[in-house]
Amino acid sequence: MKKQEIQEIKQLLSSPKKVVIVPHKNPDGDAMGSSLGLMHYLLKLDHDVRVIAPNDYPEFLKWLPGDSSVSKYESSQKESNLIIANSDIIFTLDFNALHRTGNMKSALESSNAIKIMIDHHQQPDDYARYMYSDVTMCSTSQMIYHFLEMLDDLDKINSDIATCIYTGIMTDTGSFRFRSTTSTTHRVVADIIDKGADNAQIHNNVYDTNSHGRLQLLGCALKNLKVIPELNTSYISLSQKELNSYNFKKGDTEGVVNYGLSLRDIAFAVIFIEHQQEGIVKISLRSKGDFDVNEFARKHFNGGGHTNAAGGRSEVSLSDTIEKFITILPSYRNDLKS
Ligand code: 5GP
Ligand code: MN
Repeated sequence: MKKQEIQEIKQLLSSPKKVVIVPHKNPDGDAMGSSLGLMHYLLKLDHDVRVIAPNDYPEFLKWLPGDSSVSKYESSQKESNLIIANSDIIFTLDFNALHRTGNMKSALESSNAIKIMIDHHQQPDDYARYMYSDVTMCSTSQMIYHFLEMLDDLDKINSDIATCIYTGIMTDTGSFRFRSTTSTTHRVVADIIDKGADNAQIHNNVYDTNSHGRLQLLGCALKNLKVIPELNTSYISLSQKELNSYNFKKGDTEGVVNYGLSLRDIAFAVIFIEHQQEGIVKISLRSKGDFDVNEFARKHFNGGGHTNAAGGRSEVSLSDTIEKFITILPSYRNDLKS
């Protein structure tokens, strides 16, 4: 961000404001970590702050400090619309196009609040007065740290803020192993551990609270794993019937796509998950190296994200979606083989 913009934001935050913080729909660890981290900071500055998530998020994030204060737009539309309309500032975190908030979009569009985007996805839309967009960042949570750094407020980071930021960085970097993890990431993490993030406890809270059903669903997903060795690609499918038989809960399929990418010589891995209620197939795409899944998801599956991690959707059946995928794939032969 430009110095001038930081000065303006500093000025803006120098007196109590009504602030709304919005993560993307189906919030993940980074969306909730960055939102709650920023919330705790703004509460320290005496602002009136509300985190409004478009919808619910997984159980493994429900221990985050401040979790109980989060509103879900889906189940509090009227009240949330009022809060959004009357707010002075809206922070939008971990997304860069308003449609990523689902049906919150129009309430956000029509609010006169000053919008501040903090995000690390590619190709940001132009809806915010202030844009802190950096696609080289591993996570929005790391950007919250740098945002506080620019505001000269690193000393305000307490253990709640540190815990939230750590959670977002850990989940978006696959526990510090993805390419986006830099030496700066590790320096940030070192500092927030010093400021009270309990790394072992946070890892335990997020990753070691599986239900029996979730592990059985993982077993089912691994059984369904298909490999196309000549295109260095693997994919997994999960039907609604399979989800039901293992008592699927939100978040249970998080990270499953990465198993496909862990195969030797595989550079592109995809998971197709049927969502009968919404009438869609949700698609997660991951790659290693230069194969750009953001472009692929944008072009063919109505989605987007980053070079090595993106999401998308399809409105035809699970089998038709997979067939479409298999038909498209050979045209990427050169990119996938290099
Ligand atoms: P996931 O596969 O975990 O849902 O998403 C992978 C990455 O792509 C995340 O950073 C997520 O925010 C982004 N992403 C997921 N779905 C979409 C989508 O429909 N549109 C865009 N632009 N990004 C998405
Ligand atoms: Mn993120």
